[in-house]
Amino acid sequence: MNKPILNHYDAVIIGSGSVGCPAAFNLAKSGIKTLVIDKDSSVGQESNKRAIGGIRATHSDPAKSQLCLRSIEIFSTWRETYGDDIEWYPGGYVFVAYREQEEKTLKELTRTQKSFGLDINWLDKADLLKIAPDLNQNDLIGGTYSPKDGNASPLLAAHAFYDHARQLGAEFHFRENVKEIIVNSGRVSAVVTDKGVYSCDLVINAAGPWAKEVGSLVGMDVPVNPDSHEAAITEPVARFLDPMIVDIRPSSGSSNFYFYQHITGQVIFCITPSPNIWGYDVNETSSFLPMVSKRMVEVMPRLKNLRVRRAWRGLYPMTPDGFPIVGYANNIEGYLLAVGMCGQGFMLGPGLGELILRLVQDNLTESDREILPYLSPYRQFAGQELLK
Ligand SMILES: Cc1cc2nc3c(=O)[nH]c(=O)nc-3n(C[C@H](O)[C@H](O)[C@H](O)COP(=O)(O)OP(=O)(O)OC[C@H]3O[C@@H](n4cnc5c(N)ncnc54)[C@H](O)[C@@H]3O)c2cc1C
Repeated sequence: MNKPILNHYDAVIIGSGSVGCPAAFNLAKSGIKTLVIDKDSSVGQESNKRAIGGIRATHSDPAKSQLCLRSIEIFSTWRETYGDDIEWYPGGYVFVAYREQEEKTLKELTRTQKSFGLDINWLDKADLLKIAPDLNQNDLIGGTYSPKDGNASPLLAAHAFYDHARQLGAEFHFRENVKEIIVNSGRVSAVVTDKGVYSCDLVINAAGPWAKEVGSLVGMDVPVNPDSHEAAITEPVARFLDPMIVDIRPSSGSSNFYFYQHITGQVIFCITPSPNIWGYDVNETSSFLPMVSKRMVEVMPRLKNLRVRRAWRGLYPMTPDGFPIVGYANNIEGYLLAVGMCGQGFMLGPGLGELILRLVQDNLTESDREILPYLSPYRQFAGQELLK
């Protein structure tokens, strides 16, 4: 190691995405000297800016539900607390059921979600149509509705966390690639990039789709793999749709799809390919739009009049069971993982940023202790998230 040690930090966060930015904000707010390093030229340029902005607390497990409940509090009050417009819109989420099997799944799930204290109800067809009048009524049985969920802009949110983190003293280094992590006597001591060396007491792996590579720098096998997903946006039109609509019926080439109308009028949509498309390819395909538009128009015929303006592709940092990985490495002191956010890293970010601070300060609450086993890097990865 011939490079000069540039500075000492209490914490170095690798990645300025959906997780790294809120983590930096929280650490800096508590006076922890923080450096965020990203290989890209500005914040949120990888998975973060490719997210479509959906935010829900209505998951199938207590860990994500609890983190996202807190995230919703932060997103929904951000403007009045910190002054930035992050385009929060509390439109709610609707999961539709057109077949008995989805009706059964969603009704069962609603019972579990209610037991976590979530605001979600099963609505029959007539009541659901009051919430989303343009849904195709043929064969519609009903669906779940969670009015407190919503959406916001991933890029505006990442920039808001970034701006405030910097004002609070966090440093961000862009166009810098982390190449090595030095471990001395079982604890992290420095991060080496292509530009220099930073000594530190704590390293946070928030490298999203590259979590496995950054894990391997300390000899850890982190089970996160990039899974390619596409999305698109239409022209803006007058508001006609409030909630995010999710259809979990599997179909040829896709397992589910979802769409909503953003606060600025555009309809934004996404599909979950089946089987998964593993790898780092972020070039759009010609199969996505024909597949998703057919499914969307079936569920909401009115959408056929909309023109698509742009499509893009990004990466879900996937874990084998669909749950994030949050916690310290057992055998390397000062190495903290906050990775594997799958398709929910944007909505998890703000709540997770606060949990990361409590982990760093060894100040966990009782409910943190209850949810951390679900997120443990050392769990069996044998379960399956029902609402990936
Ligand atoms: C099409 C699509 C739609 C989605 N929709 C939603 C949604 O509606 N709601 C939701 O919550 N989530 C959604 N997601 C998922 C969400 O985007 C991710 O879960 C989230 O962005 C992951 O956050 P992250 O911070 O872990 O990763 P990222 O945001 O990718 O941040 C990781 C950062 O680490 C940096 N990095 C990696 N390795 C290194 C290194 N060696 N040195 C320096 N820097 C490094 C990268 O450059 C990157 O900026 C969607 C994703 C896609 C692709």
